Amino acid sequence: MSVNQQAHTGLPYGQPQPGYQGYQQSGYGGQQMPGVHHSQYGAYNGPLPGYQQPAPPQGTLRAPPTSGAPLPTSGAPVPAGQPVYSQFGQGDVQNGIATSAVQMQRPSASQPFIPGTAPTPVSQPATFQQYGPPPTSAQQLTNHMAGMQIGSSTSAPPPAGLGYGPPTSVPPASGSFTATGSGLYTSYSSSQGPPPVTMTHGLPPTSLSQGLSLAQPAFSGPPLSAQRLPQAPGFVPPPCSTGIGPSSYPPTTGAPRPSTMQGSQLPGQALTGLPTSQPNHVSSPPPHPSMSGPAMTGLQGPPPPTHPSQSGYQMQQNGSFGQVRGPQPNYGGAYPGTPNYGSQPAPPPPPKRLDPDSIPSPQLSELPPQQKPRHRIDPDAIPSPIQVIEDDRNNRGSEPFITGVRGQVPPLVTTNFLVKDQGNASPRYIRCTSYNIPCTSDMAKQSQVPLAAVIKPLATLPTDEAPPYLVDHGEPGPIRCNRCKAYMCPFMQFIEGGRRFQCCFCSCVTEVPPHYFQHLDHTGKRVDFYDRPELSLGSYEFLATVSYCKNNKFPNPPAFIFMIDVSYNAVKSGLVRLICEELKSLLDYLPREGNMEESAIRVGFVTYNKVLHFYNVKSSLAQPQMMVVSDVADMFVPLLDGFLVNVNESRTVIVSLLDQIPEMFADTRETETVFAPVIQAGMEALKAAECAGKLFIFHTSLPIAEAPGKLKNRDDRKLINTDKEKTLFQPQTSFYSNLAKDCVAQGCCVDLFLFPNQYLDVATLGVVPYQTGGTIYKYAYFQLETDQERFLNDLRKDVQKEVGFDAVMRVRTSTGIRATDFFGAFYMSNTTDVELAGLDCDKTITVEFRHDDKLSEDSGALLQCALLYTNCAGQRRLRIHNLSLNCCTQLADLYRNCETDTLINFLAKFAYRGVLNNPVKTVRDTLINQCAQILACYRKNCASPSSAGQLILPECMKLLPVYLNCVLKSDVLQPGAEVTTDDRAYIRQLVSSMDVAETNVFFYPRLLPLTKVDVDSDTLPAAIRNSEERLSKGDMYLLENGLNIFVWVGVNVQQGLIQNLFGVSSFNHISSTLSTLPVLENPFSKRVRSIIDMFQAQRSRYMKLIIVKQEDKLEMLFKHFLVEDKSMSGGASYVDFLCHMHKEIRQLLS
Ligand SMILES: [Zn+2]
Repeated sequence: MSVNQQAHTGLPYGQPQPGYQGYQQSGYGGQQMPGVHHSQYGAYNGPLPGYQQPAPPQGTLRAPPTSGAPLPTSGAPVPAGQPVYSQFGQGDVQNGIATSAVQMQRPSASQPFIPGTAPTPVSQPATFQQYGPPPTSAQQLTNHMAGMQIGSSTSAPPPAGLGYGPPTSVPPASGSFTATGSGLYTSYSSSQGPPPVTMTHGLPPTSLSQGLSLAQPAFSGPPLSAQRLPQAPGFVPPPCSTGIGPSSYPPTTGAPRPSTMQGSQLPGQALTGLPTSQPNHVSSPPPHPSMSGPAMTGLQGPPPPTHPSQSGYQMQQNGSFGQVRGPQPNYGGAYPGTPNYGSQPAPPPPPKRLDPDSIPSPQLSELPPQQKPRHRIDPDAIPSPIQVIEDDRNNRGSEPFITGVRGQVPPLVTTNFLVKDQGNASPRYIRCTSYNIPCTSDMAKQSQVPLAAVIKPLATLPTDEAPPYLVDHGEPGPIRCNRCKAYMCPFMQFIEGGRRFQCCFCSCVTEVPPHYFQHLDHTGKRVDFYDRPELSLGSYEFLATVSYCKNNKFPNPPAFIFMIDVSYNAVKSGLVRLICEELKSLLDYLPREGNMEESAIRVGFVTYNKVLHFYNVKSSLAQPQMMVVSDVADMFVPLLDGFLVNVNESRTVIVSLLDQIPEMFADTRETETVFAPVIQAGMEALKAAECAGKLFIFHTSLPIAEAPGKLKNRDDRKLINTDKEKTLFQPQTSFYSNLAKDCVAQGCCVDLFLFPNQYLDVATLGVVPYQTGGTIYKYAYFQLETDQERFLNDLRKDVQKEVGFDAVMRVRTSTGIRATDFFGAFYMSNTTDVELAGLDCDKTITVEFRHDDKLSEDSGALLQCALLYTNCAGQRRLRIHNLSLNCCTQLADLYRNCETDTLINFLAKFAYRGVLNNPVKTVRDTLINQCAQILACYRKNCASPSSAGQLILPECMKLLPVYLNCVLKSDVLQPGAEVTTDDRAYIRQLVSSMDVAETNVFFYPRLLPLTKVDVDSDTLPAAIRNSEERLSKGDMYLLENGLNIFVWVGVNVQQGLIQNLFGVSSFNHISSTLSTLPVLENPFSKRVRSIIDMFQAQRSRYMKLIIVKQEDKLEMLFKHFLVEDKSMSGGASYVDFLCHMHKEIRQLLS
């Protein structure tokens, strides 16, 4: 271990500092198993490869932070109770990071959707176009949906770069919170506040006006804690929801399922249970409901209101914003310069191409037959996820994403792209729902677009991207703002020749410690700018000093404790033997710090059923010793010395133990287990060893043995769709929450591997893993033959993955917004600090922001996520991620810079938390209503007047309906009969800490046609949309959703292909019990298997492979994932849902 101990104290004051030598990469991982990335990086000696020094920032000085109403954020994480300073010196305002790069925006491939025509990417000039029939009432009856238009608006980027434009005065802003309780956003009314800060920028640096009286935070109102709603906020119907009847949609109960649907369960399958007698109609397109007559009155209406206020600001989309994304000619002026975004006369409406016979409706069944419309929407005419994904890949996959510019929307998560950190955190670490935040809470509230960031602080980067550099400031530790305790970052502004810096978050001015002093160059930038990661990069790490450690003591290296259920089922299924065999080799792959020769992690072993067995595996012993604790009511650890050991020192004893365990319990008759005492034991052992760590618990059954935390079987499917359904998601006792709290205090993270043969109450057993930042894996009906590969791969990945311990995360924001709500697997004892006993590289924490003041377009908004954690070597570290966002005064700018995948990630987490306290139907209705409001707001404020019969979607959100529908019909919110209570609780917790890429594929699976696979190319065949009518009987398909991979085989597939892939002579000979594809030496087999391997490597869990033959009973399971179709549980098809959303939007607008 070669920690850079170079002290940076005592550098000659005023002397230019030589190139900063020896930044270390925070590398992780032990001896890596194949496929696990491990890289070491050389010293950080300046700009990264390809890291171009920006041109002198002529005229691009970033405005200094405005001093609005800083919040009293106490310094976190330690030491607390810092005095609040109000140092507002005057001095030269200097810029932060230079921003000369061209502002990048998502390419404006806009796509007008003309019903009845296939979507064709069209590059539109900046002209206003209107499609669809004119809103004449006569025509509307028959073709109001024919004229349904999916407008795709893209537009020029907002010019709110870093400091363009003339001096801008920030209006005084302050006020008080008004808890409305009726919407997602607390309103904020302006009143008095500190004097405005007048910013001047441009060269030469100008003086910041002095005498800012910001000593006290200028916001009055309820205490911060009152801002956190006790329950999931937003389940009160939002204010604009009048007119949407609570029972309008979707139906609370799906169509009753035939009893035969409750068929036998698929062993080992997460989504267990199979309908056994379902007809299969793959060959025929699914019948769209045929409707007749002038129904769908809800979709008609008066001509849309025009918005006189928009004259001169024709925010039409439909490609009218054009493709050109270069610098806007109007940038020079103060934004909004109100450029005329094209207001050419509309072209004549395109010829009607829709079969006017299909307007499916979710309420179809409720309509009298004579009212059923006859119209049919061409599914090719509605926004296609595949097309959007492909377009983004083509437009953004080839260029690196350079993070030097504020408010850039990154490429989609489905696009492969390289990231170059030039001052903002990579989107692999942080993704936002929008990269342009409304300046006021009123605007935010009006749009209903949630402002949230999905943060993955320890994300694994691709091999060609550098992990965060390690900065060691020696004894004094990281440089921080005196008041808000924000860490030094590229947005801090050095003033007074470099002797002080002004905080970009709270505007407080802090002295630069002598050892950190550096001269400024003529642009006001420190001359060591490019030598210091914390000045020039968006992400980096600080080596934490002892004051960042518990009890002012450097931590011991963490420990892993393996705790194996040895009750009857676990032994009989072969699980115990499997685990013990695997551990023998896996212990050589414990995570280790970059260049360490061996892992510093110590290991311990416990087995249990109704009692616990501890093992002494001290290296000096010839044989391991077992100590039994049968008093599980008051758990204690019977041995200290010899329980947690170094693997290499105790290898012989450990191997002997792992050999003996399966034999010792081979004849067990014990079927009952305890659970809470197991966690207590692990936690107590870590406490005794004074270290953090992780428990790997392998558990098989509901803990019914007499012990603390004993559970009863309370599964009751009759509660589904009742007001008590939420109890299925709630723990049955508070015991585990209290236990989790103790675990967090000890830095004891719990990973739980479940192998249930029946209900075991995941909702309750999952509490401790969830609140300690751990992971749950579930292998229902575990069978060695079919499930061991998946389990072992998960275990290997889980043991080896990068993980931080005893962590605290704090998100600081610049004045104007504040982190108010948090989602994920963690514990919070106050309103700001996210406590994580453990945090691994796959976990995200989602943070929602709300306004507490006005934002300014000049300053934008800044986020700084600081994660204090203990790494696998026991070193205390601070990982810092910074991100700067734009702010807007025009709603159109918000809608142009949204990220729908992140929005869906947030909405799913929001909804999945909501089911804990609300009826599921309420949660669904709230989601629908919120999205309808988002889209209605766009229609009202950003789209040019057009027929009410047209559905107009913002370009960046055109997939919102299809993805939202997938969330609505997911197992948590609308379970099919085959979905168990445990499945739902499991999925609920799983999704809560998923990243955006995972939720994207989870809700809208990837479906590839295998006959289109090019065996000679690495390129994947184009994916197809998830609908049965897209499947061909003569093809085979691969479908993955992050948990499962299906291979669907059509009945008419060529025999040669079947032979090549399955090694059998015909369709009938394919075994649907295969859990892997046979290894065959032909190009097609190799290529398909390599695609599957590639998918597996991309996901945090090993996916179970399921072979589905067309018209086989397993096909119903597969169809569950064809998410554009109507689902068996009553979920709407995409077409139907889009019509429904359209209706909701029209109701909101009328
Ligand atoms: Zn500050």
